[in-house]
Amino acid sequence: MLSRRHFLGAGLAAPAIYAAGSFVPVWAQNAPNFGTPTLPNPGFRRMKVGDVEVVALVDGITRRPLGEEFVKNAPLAEVRALLTSQGLPTDYIDVPYTPFLVVAGGRKILIDTGLGEFGGPTTGKLLESLAAAGLKADDIDTVLISHYHGDHINGIRNKAGVLTFPKAKVLVPAAEHAFWMDDARMAAAPAGMKGAFENVRRTFATMPADTLVQFGAGTEVAPGIQSVAAYGHTPGHTLFELKSAGQNFFYVADLTNVPALFARNPDWAVTFDMDAEAARKVRREVFQRITASNAMLGGFHFPFPAFGRVAASGNGYAFQPAA
Ligand SMILES: [Zn+2]
Repeated sequence: MLSRRHFLGAGLAAPAIYAAGSFVPVWAQNAPNFGTPTLPNPGFRRMKVGDVEVVALVDGITRRPLGEEFVKNAPLAEVRALLTSQGLPTDYIDVPYTPFLVVAGGRKILIDTGLGEFGGPTTGKLLESLAAAGLKADDIDTVLISHYHGDHINGIRNKAGVLTFPKAKVLVPAAEHAFWMDDARMAAAPAGMKGAFENVRRTFATMPADTLVQFGAGTEVAPGIQSVAAYGHTPGHTLFELKSAGQNFFYVADLTNVPALFARNPDWAVTFDMDAEAARKVRREVFQRITASNAMLGGFHFPFPAFGRVAASGNGYAFQPAA
């Protein structure tokens, strides 16, 4: 941590951190020419982890054209070949958004919030999915945030600025908060990154002090839920490991974007990975850990129901969605 901070402070960070200016909000890239993605109906799926219920909640899907930029370090022909080998289309990518809800001992803990009112027409469905599962925004007592990209935090407030989950504490990784709320870093960021910094300020700057709670890496953020640092995708990107009655569920957030590409090839870097090398290393470490324990995992950009298991496959891992 210290050496990394030193590196960031040394003025050398721009190329690694800002990913060569390739940060384009994923919700800004609809691909209308390729048709509309079909959203799962109903937009939720329950599973049991020990004594706890975990519910995958559909926020939506963005269909984006597949170009050279999506995988930063592999030729498009190789990316297309991998998609073809899995029977997937090669001219576009469907990127799903799936927040999770943990229902445990009277608590209702939402993990990540989707695009809210800030995405395209096939996104922002979290509240509908929650209602379909029999819950309303008022029921949520805790919102856990993995990192500050818009598809994870924009559901926290609507366009009028009103908090979507009025009774919830919002728990955020301290390292992530420190990075994005740093005014000097925002001032030094390239033009293409300013919007992301402004979006973080819109979401958090006026949040009441008793609502916003920062947590450290490796701490218990709710009963049975541990935060796990997985820095790389963003400077404070954090996963959550849930344990109950001898069973495990690992929420891996954006450890990978779509697993058909980045679990199969953990060394490939999605355009949104801010520090691609750190993201690559932690991706391999966490996948190894998960396969060793055979834990159930869930990923924000995984295909519905967005939870299942991974098994070693070739140079990487194959995601097997739960039946
Ligand atoms: Zn994301």
